[in-house]
This record gives sequence, structure tokens and C-alpha cells, in this order.
Amino acid sequence: MTHKTDIEIAQEVQLKPIEEIAKQAGIDREDLEMYGNHKAKIDYQAMDKLKEREDGKLILVTAITPTPAGEGKTTTSVGLGDALHRLGENTMIAIREPSLGPVFGIKGGAAGGGYAQVVPMEDINLHFTGDFHAIGAANNLLAAMIDNHIHHGNELNIDSRKITWKRAVDMNDRQLRFIVDGLHGKVNGVPREDGFDITVASEVMAILCLSNSMVELKDKLKNIIVGYTYDDKPVTAGDIKAHGAMAALLKDALKPNLVQTLEHTPALVHGGPFANIAHGCNSVMATKMALKYADYVVTEAGFGADLGAEKFFDIKCRVSGVRPSAVVLVATVRALKMHGGVAKTELNDENVAAVEAGLPNLMKHLENIQNVYGMPAVVAINKFPTDTAEELQVIEEKCRALGVTVVLSDVWANGGAGGEALAKEVIRLTKEEHAELHYAYELEDTITQKIEKLVKKVYGGKGIELSRGAEREIQRLEALGFGRLPICVAKTQYSFSDDATQLGRPTDFTIHIRNVRISAGAGFIVVLTGEIMTMPGLPKRPQAEQINVDENGKISGLF
Ligand code: ADP
Ligand code: MG
Repeated sequence: MTHKTDIEIAQEVQLKPIEEIAKQAGIDREDLEMYGNHKAKIDYQAMDKLKEREDGKLILVTAITPTPAGEGKTTTSVGLGDALHRLGENTMIAIREPSLGPVFGIKGGAAGGGYAQVVPMEDINLHFTGDFHAIGAANNLLAAMIDNHIHHGNELNIDSRKITWKRAVDMNDRQLRFIVDGLHGKVNGVPREDGFDITVASEVMAILCLSNSMVELKDKLKNIIVGYTYDDKPVTAGDIKAHGAMAALLKDALKPNLVQTLEHTPALVHGGPFANIAHGCNSVMATKMALKYADYVVTEAGFGADLGAEKFFDIKCRVSGVRPSAVVLVATVRALKMHGGVAKTELNDENVAAVEAGLPNLMKHLENIQNVYGMPAVVAINKFPTDTAEELQVIEEKCRALGVTVVLSDVWANGGAGGEALAKEVIRLTKEEHAELHYAYELEDTITQKIEKLVKKVYGGKGIELSRGAEREIQRLEALGFGRLPICVAKTQYSFSDDATQLGRPTDFTIHIRNVRISAGAGFIVVLTGEIMTMPGLPKRPQAEQINVDENGKISGLF
């Protein structure tokens, strides 16, 4: 067991030059754009070079309904990648980039943990290669051009009370949620109510992650709806003529970032959309590039499987054509205990009965992955230092009795060596079992039918209740021709239902749809089931108070 922090572990490892990692992955030097010695962007052309090569196998890592601390999807993804690498398989990891907001807010990174991390973790968690700054700049260019258009006569007849496009900054800053701007007289703009979203919640982020090429990126940017005219016609970024310049700002951000794990497995860390109002997956560009260069690609989807895996299949796979070959469902003793009724303050105390009582949550996620989406799956128990042998044993026994394959994963404490059993099972699944992706709903279904299908099939609820506003907006969006888009549900990640206190496997519940809204650029309809925060705040004692840097530029206190 380790007492070292993640950053201490990460700083002890001697990183290899990134050219070496690229070479090992078969990526030509001429396709690398170096960002220092340990980070590089990969040019789009690298993908075309291997057009004829058969894609590798894609492994999706998802999780049961989590505790607020997170159950270790990123840690398991990195550790599984390292384990496949150890077994001699040509492997790449493809995961999201962290946002600055949470880094300074709560303790807990997005670069893995323990001995399963991507490095250099300080860079990855801070500015990295500047993608998020570029996305913020593209977002804010559009915002500036909208207000500038109104200031100069408003030819498009935009109703400034109906502007839906917000400004963005990559920081947890609740002070900016609702603001009034354009104050102080005629030369200083037109006063209006406005607000900021955190950059990862920007539609530009979702667009970057769902684009298969630069041309597609530009097209999607053009379709962004920024607000409505006085007679309720949508106004787009194309109408504002902003899309070309926005795409220019994103030229490099669209290129996947290559880094390495602590065990020198190549990893593409690229894109990071929110998992509620967006789809919560790394970029399509990075996933596709990894599939060209590696035989096994491990990727992750945000939140629990009812949200993350669902959107991965129903949105990302649908728009990109990528197809996973197997799914790893991460579970932890502490989350099972929580679903078995144990209070969050007592999750570290042994409670075998509660672990068993929590298993229905795991079973429902597994049934969804196998029966709704048609994917071969394995349950990975992410082992924590507090787990007892009896608790681990009851999971194995009960799962075996139910015919579920379950493997213990100890990658947090042991790196790739702790994930070999999982890696072997994953290889077996991709070779011996048949994966044929089915979607939970069809694009031809009406918006309401799509929501109903998700609720009944994936969440296990009995139906939906639409607010008046939601009903009206659905009619309006269908009349505007947006009825055939996939949906992106913004729901609590802490329950299958829309009530975070309904743990385990709730049944007979109704999902309440407060409103829907269109992300016409990203190409989905966001279905809001409650108040969704798109600009988080900092806690009373932000992690930023602990972060420091010494005279040599060495960072401490990150996690
Ligand atoms: P997710 O991707 O599901 O949100 P992470 O992999 O980021 O989860 O892990 C969440 C937090 O839990 C991180 O701080 C990580 O270091 C820690 N963690 C993950 N797995 C373990 C484990 N097996 N033992 C102890 N801590 C862990
Ligand atoms: Mg994660």
C-alpha cells in the first residue's frame, strides 16, 4: 500500500522523450508537433497514412452509479492500457483532458491515480497544450461578434433578451454565472443580461470532440444557434459569419495530444466535454487515430454507464462510426456499499451484507450494456486499500452465481501488473465474443419517444413527465426540423432516476423533463431533468490553497 500522493508518484518516474513513445506507436516524426519534450500534437495527416489499415479493437471503460469521489474509470483505463502493453499488445489509451476548474476546486484529478496515471500530470492538469484556451477563445470570439453585430445596427434583428450563447472561461467562478454587461453608455455596447459557462460546457468543446475532420468542425460551428430574432427565428454562428475564424482558432486544438503513462504506454489525451449537457467523451479524432495505430485502444466515458456509456453508444458511436469490441464496467466496494444503504461517512467500514445488497445496481448497468447495446462485458472491481477479503469475495461469488465475469483490478496500487487478469479477460472477450452494437432509440423516433425509450430501457423507470415548457420547446424544435437528432440527457449521475437519493436499482419512477434545448452545432438535443450547473463554484477550502511551485518550477499539492 502506498502513502505517496499521485503527484509524488508521477514525479518519481523518468519520462521517455515523446518521440520515442511516438516511434513505438508507429507514428512518423514528421507528423509530430512538439510541445516540449513530453507532449506532442499529431497532425491530421497521420490518420490518412494508415487509411487502409484495419482498425484496432476499442475497449470502453464505464462504471456503476458512482459515489461523489469517483469509482476509478480513468485509473482503470490507464491501468488496463498498461496491462495490455505489458502483455505485449500494441496498445493506446484515448481519454479526456482535465478542466482547470475542478483541478483548483475539489481534490481529485482526471489523469488517473496511484500507479496508473498519464504524465506529465502537472501539465495535463494545468494548461497542457492550450486546447481549452483555444476553445474558450473560439467561444468568446463568437460572443464578441454577436454583441458587436447588435451594436452596429443589428441587421439580423437579434432579440438581445433571447441570446442563448454565453461567454466561457475555464475556471470555477460562480460570480460570473449571471452578469449584466454592455454598461456605460452608447459607445460601450448594448446593456443586457449575460453569463459565463465553464469552457468544458461550451458547445464548441462538444463540436471539437464530435468532428471527424476540420471540414466537419467548420460545418458544425456554422450551425450553432446563438439566439433568436424578435420574430423567433434562430440566428446561427454562420449568420454572424464567425465560423471560419472560430475554426482557424481551433486548427491545432483539433489535433490529438500524445503523452505517456507511468509505464510508457502511449496515450492520446484530447477533448473534455461535460458529461451532462454534452456527451462526456474524448474526441472522435483521437479515438479514430488511436484505432489506426494500435491493436487495442482503451477509452473512457464520463459518469456512470446510464449516462456516459449511453451517450458513448447513442451519440459518439452513431456520429463517428466507431464500434467498441468490449466493455469494462468498473465497480467498487464503497459504491456497492452505498447502494446497499450505507451512509457516505461509513463507506470505509467493513459491511459484507451491504456490498451484496448493492449488487442490483451493478446488474442493471450490466444488463444494459449486454442486452440493450449488445456488448460483451466484464466487471472490474477496482480494489481500494480499505476493501476487505470478505467484501471482495462476496462480489465474486454472487457475480459468478449470476453468470457474470468479474475480475479484480489492482492497478492503483500496482500499475499494469495489477491489471493483467483484466487485460486477459478483455482480450478473450474481443476474440471469442460477438459485439454488435444496437442503439437504445432510433433517430427516426420523435424526441418524446427517444426520451421514453431511454427511461424505460436504460434507466428502468416507468415513464416521463414533461413540463409545459418542455412540451412547447419539443414542438418548436420538431417544427424547426431538429426532431431527428440524438438526445443528450442532463441528469444526476448519482441515480438511475432523476433523484440523487434513489440509490441501488430504483423501479417505478418517473423522469421529470424540465426543459429541452438544442445544440444544433454539436448535433444533439439536450434534455434537462433538473437544474444543471454549467458554471461550477469553488468549495470553502479550494484545492488551490494547497498548490504551489518551487524555485525550480516543480509543482506540488496538485493532488
Ligand atoms: P473516475 O474516472 O471514475 O472519475 P478516477 O480514476 O479519476 O475516477 O478516480 C477518482 C479518484 O479516486 C482519484 O483521485 C483516484 O486517485 C482515486 N482512486 C481510484 N482508484 C483508486 C483505488 N483503487 N484506490 C485508491 N484510490 C483510488
Ligand atoms: Mg475519469
